[in-house]
Amino acid sequence: MQITITKAKDLKPKPDESNLGFGTIFTDHMLLIDYNPDKGWHLPRIEPFSPFEMSPATMVLHYGQAVFEGLKAYRTAAGKIQLFRPKANFARMNRSCELLCIPGIDESLLMASLKDLLKLEKDWVPKAPGTSLYVRPTIISTDPYLGVRASKTYRYFVILCPVGAYYAAGFNPVKIWVTKNHVRAIRGGIGEAKTPANYAASLYAGDKATKNGYAQVLWLDGVEQKYVEEVGSMNIFFVIDNEIVTPMLNGSILPGITRDSVIALAKHWNMKISERRISIDEVMNAHDAGRLQEIFGSGTAAVISPVGEMKYGDRIIKIGGGKVGPIANKFFNSIQEIQYGRTEDPMGWIEQVC
Ligand SMILES: *Cc1c(COP(=O)(O)O)cnc(C)c1O
Repeated sequence: MQITITKAKDLKPKPDESNLGFGTIFTDHMLLIDYNPDKGWHLPRIEPFSPFEMSPATMVLHYGQAVFEGLKAYRTAAGKIQLFRPKANFARMNRSCELLCIPGIDESLLMASLKDLLKLEKDWVPKAPGTSLYVRPTIISTDPYLGVRASKTYRYFVILCPVGAYYAAGFNPVKIWVTKNHVRAIRGGIGEAKTPANYAASLYAGDKATKNGYAQVLWLDGVEQKYVEEVGSMNIFFVIDNEIVTPMLNGSILPGITRDSVIALAKHWNMKISERRISIDEVMNAHDAGRLQEIFGSGTAAVISPVGEMKYGDRIIKIGGGKVGPIANKFFNSIQEIQYGRTEDPMGWIEQVC
């Protein structure tokens, strides 16, 4: 399919790379592909970044039928631009589409069109250490209709923003809060889809955690509120007796690509790793017995987020003396080395753009 490009007349000034933050600065262009039942996905095009005009009745605004992805483009020391496991993002987006009754898109079109957009915007990929260009592919339902059903028309779009180093103030552990009063997702729901509804469902508890001085919520399963699922919008890992444990995918956990990368590297290095159910009681008991060595989250934004303190009910426990553990540190460094092309890519995860 031919991808047409309409260039912006005026280009924006590039931002100060020492103060990028996250998600506020957008590049000059965006990518669009539309869907209707007659033409399927059609008219892939790159246009100047601009607001959408839409009817107030547009379905996504009312019923939230939408999916999204999040990945990053990295600039190597040699000035090349590369992506980390983008095929996994596109495969996951199509799986999310299935759960949200959105027609799937040809993944080779998604890859080719994203590369075209990135080639055009390559000067927007920042150079400063730890910075990157965040890529946000999204699909929204666009029928102007208030009846409840799946939409018949959709729009896929990709916007880009240069983002700063996540740990601008240093690679430090966070405090997390285990909640038994709120759940993010339930068995048989859409927890494993990357969809706005799951984020909406997480805000209330997240807000309470922040007000109490905690960075993230640790989510338990929605049925028994007993088994650990995720932390904030990251997957979670425990190191107990030198074994790395992460909750097995069960339909309500988001299958993170960073999670998968941690598991694959651990296996590659012959470390002991298990995907299984792990209850919050097992974690607390391991801590009490002095066997809980580390807890860390995984996700595209932070790569690895070490946990230094956890509150559960009336108890507050410190993990690893509140310091970053060696295993979290090893994954953090190794994954970044691959992402920025500072080491060879033993797993075939890098997709070259230009
Ligand atoms: C995106 C996301 C993750 C992390 O996935 P990555 O592919 O590693 O970025 C974890 N949990 C939730 C709920 C998410 O939305």
